[in-house]
Amino acid sequence: MLSARKAVESLQEYHPPLAGRDGLRLDFNENTEGCSPRILERLRKITAEDLARYPGREPVEAIVAGHLGLAPGQVLLTNGVDEALHLLCETYLEPLDEVLVVTPTFSMYEIYAGATGARVSRVQCEADLRFPLAKLLGSITPATRLIAVASPNNPTGAVADREELLRIARALPDGALLVDEAYFEFHGETMVRDIDGLDNLFVTRTFSKAYGLAGLRAGVLAGPRRQMPRVRRVSSPYSVNAVALAVLPDALADSDHVSRYVGQVKNGRERVAGELNSLGFHSWPSHANFLLVRIGEKHCEFVLAMRQRGILVRDRSADPGCEGCVRITIGINAQTACLIAALREVARELALDSEVTA
Ligand code: PMP
Repeated sequence: MLSARKAVESLQEYHPPLAGRDGLRLDFNENTEGCSPRILERLRKITAEDLARYPGREPVEAIVAGHLGLAPGQVLLTNGVDEALHLLCETYLEPLDEVLVVTPTFSMYEIYAGATGARVSRVQCEADLRFPLAKLLGSITPATRLIAVASPNNPTGAVADREELLRIARALPDGALLVDEAYFEFHGETMVRDIDGLDNLFVTRTFSKAYGLAGLRAGVLAGPRRQMPRVRRVSSPYSVNAVALAVLPDALADSDHVSRYVGQVKNGRERVAGELNSLGFHSWPSHANFLLVRIGEKHCEFVLAMRQRGILVRDRSADPGCEGCVRITIGINAQTACLIAALREVARELALDSEVTA
């Protein structure tokens, strides 16, 4: 039988549980309110002519670069952060190169890096799920070609601060540091302004989270002027479709929509964290639009009981260091109220169960 490359043969398909998602979607860290109405208006104006043409991304790239305070040559629009990761791996990794990822984290770093034949080493977060700076620095070798750090991290919500990330970038003799800022809007701190001063720092952003456009697939890869032409060589010129390109300027222009949404999420994050605490569950400080909560042995029952109340949350128990944990996306105020009501009921139900089974 025809076989794939060796590296691909040993990969597992990443198959997110997208089926049967009716209800309040607090399982994928998506925007739960919806994008700016200006985007929907713009979509209605798309013509057959717009769709017949191959999409040209440069004009929109220039707008996005301006928004980030960067030059157009430092920015590549991508088919979501996912494509940006893929391109970085294709550009810099050879078989047997070394890649470091902090675990637990977003799965796609390992998949794209692994597909090139690079060796991926996992550096476990600290016991309290904080960013493992010392361990990461200690794991760098001359063969380290890529380090991927999500800040804020998924599923922990933890961040690495600027000084820590600069130390890593400077400690890499011949490797790239990717700082994935997919959840930037919920945190507010960025490495974008450090790109100019370093030859090996890349930053990703996405329109999938705060902007509410996960279905359109639009992301941004920002990197050093001298490196981006290399990345462009492996990129398809058309990977960002015409519909996405048509609406991105409106998405950026309606900053009020995004900031109102982000404000509600941050407020909800505090309310839900307080509620979880008073119900006796541990959750970790989060700088993203979700909370990781330790439910304990009954994590499956918890997810099911929430689903029965129409609320989808994500079991993260299989992630290293997250035994018994569930990740809950935070939505807008009314959704937070529903979430809190359901949490109270489920906590009561599970506690009752544990008394019965004790
Ligand atoms: N990075 C992180 C840290 C994520 O959690 C996610 C989505 N779960 C992504 C990237 C994917 O972003 P996109 O939709 O832009 O591909």
